[in-house]
Formats: sequence, structure tokens, C-alpha cells
Amino acid sequence: MAWRFALMIDPVPADDIAEDHADTFTAVDPSAPALSVGELSTQRGDGIFESIGVVDGHAQEVAAHLERLAHSAKLCDLPAPHLGQWRLAVAVAAAQCPPGECVIKLILSRGVEHGPAPTAWVTAATAPDNTRARTDGIRVVTLDRGYDSGVPGRAPWLLLGAKTLSYATNMAAIREAKRRGADDAVFVTTDGILLEGPTSSVILRQGDRFITPAPGAGILHGTTQLSLFEHLSDRGFEVGYATLPATALAAADAAWLVSSVRLAAGVTAVDGAPLPYDAAFTADLNAYLLSPRD
Ligand code: PLP
Repeated sequence: MAWRFALMIDPVPADDIAEDHADTFTAVDPSAPALSVGELSTQRGDGIFESIGVVDGHAQEVAAHLERLAHSAKLCDLPAPHLGQWRLAVAVAAAQCPPGECVIKLILSRGVEHGPAPTAWVTAATAPDNTRARTDGIRVVTLDRGYDSGVPGRAPWLLLGAKTLSYATNMAAIREAKRRGADDAVFVTTDGILLEGPTSSVILRQGDRFITPAPGAGILHGTTQLSLFEHLSDRGFEVGYATLPATALAAADAAWLVSSVRLAAGVTAVDGAPLPYDAAFTADLNAYLLSPRD
């Protein structure tokens, strides 16, 4: 049975000046019921979340995750999270994590129907074994996201840049990819613009330049991509954001899907056609991603 830990949080306002918020946390039995039946996160997926990788007790890139949590809260008209309170909750959960890889999830929900306040909780669990994706790579298929590249600007209520709990379509895309004989998907717009994976960012290599779709395109700004770009830039590579045609993926010199828990998975095939895959370079990227990062 995998190890698990859970903490309910009583969210304090963002401007609360108390120094210690430890008394706002309640450790709960992770296998026991903890949410009200009126909980809007379960009824409507109305909430936001973050998944943070933990390596040997060190929670990775906490500041970037908290920043994105605050950004998602803003897009969803949720109360601004108190970052000090969440940082402490992450530290409490990380301190419980066994050696090896774990994942800490932060969830901030609209709350309980007719209830007074948002609901918040943090879970920690052992991470799945991602060795195969990291070392052997993954086959991807491109899937139509069902909207054009103008939608994020035209319809902000679709919350495209927020990490909301409504991931049913993302999970459906991964199932569709598997039905098509691949391991994962990459979304493209109806007008042929490259977006992201259902749970990952896409990075392309073109010579010594690494590029990723710009976050303004209605995709999440990945913390792993941000961290890798800093690392690649330190190694002397050029990095940048661009509006990329979907065809750029199959034409790249290499490509990766990157995310906080699986880390860097090299793409070995796009829509059934092989893509060059550099196992040694990918191993270097994952060694960096597994090192303590703040
Ligand atoms: N894009 C989507 C849709 C995601 O769900 C995720 C992560 O889960 C990412 C990108 C990558 O983000 P991060 O690197 O912060 O995990």
C-alpha cells in the first residue's frame, strides 16, 4: 500500500499578519472520508490545484507553484491564498515524506454549497515510478483541443491559463492517446498551433535552441519548463517562447514533455513517425530535475 498523508487547512486571508499558521492545519486519516457532500470541488470541479514533486524530502520549486496557485485563484475569482500559510503546509507535508520521490498536492476549492468559506487541503503520497518514461521516452499523438488560438482572449471564462480541478477532458485525451497506441497526447488548436500535453509542457529542440509555446496561448506556464530553461540557459543554450505551428513538433531535432512529477520524458514518436531521441541528454535533464531546486 502506497504511503499517504493528508492535512486539512483552514484558509486565512492573504493579508493575515500572524507569523505562525500551524494551528490552522489538521492532520486527517488519508483513507477516511474528509469532505462534505456539498463540496463544490467534487460537485463541479470548481477549484484549483498544484502538484509538487518531492525528492528525498525536498519539495521542488515551491515558490513557482505557490505563484501559479495565486494566479489560478485570481483567474477563478477565488480568495487570494495566503502564501505563507501554504508554504508552511507544504513544509509540514514534505517533512512527513519518506526518502525517494513523493508528490504533494495543494487543493483550494470554492468550498461547500451554501457554506461560508473555501475549502483547502494538502495531500502527500509516494510518486508513481516514472523510470520508463524518463529513460525510454514516450510516443505521443497530436489531438485537436477543439478551439482556435484566439479563444483565450475571446473567452477568458474558459479559464485556460488556470490549473483548475476540471481535468476530466485532460484525462480523456490521455485515454484517447492510448487507444491510438501512444503513451501521451499533445494538444493543438483548430488553426494548427502547438499547445501542451494534458498534464505537461512541450519543449522542442531546434539545433542549440530550445523553445516552448508561449503561456499566453491558453496553456499553463509550467514550473518544470521554467526551471529547465534556467538550467539550459546556464549551460549556454538559447531558450525562448514562440507561437509554434503544430508541424514544428514532428520537425524538431528533439522534443520533451515535462512536468513536476514525471519530469522530462523524451518524445520518441509523433503520430506514429519516429522522432530523434537523445537518451544521454534526457538523462542529464532528469539528473538536474531530481537535484534540490528552489
Ligand atoms: N500543462 C498542464 C495542462 C499541466 O497539467 C501541467 C502539470 O500538471 C503542466 C503543463 C506542467 O506544469 P508543471 O511543470 O508545473 O508540473
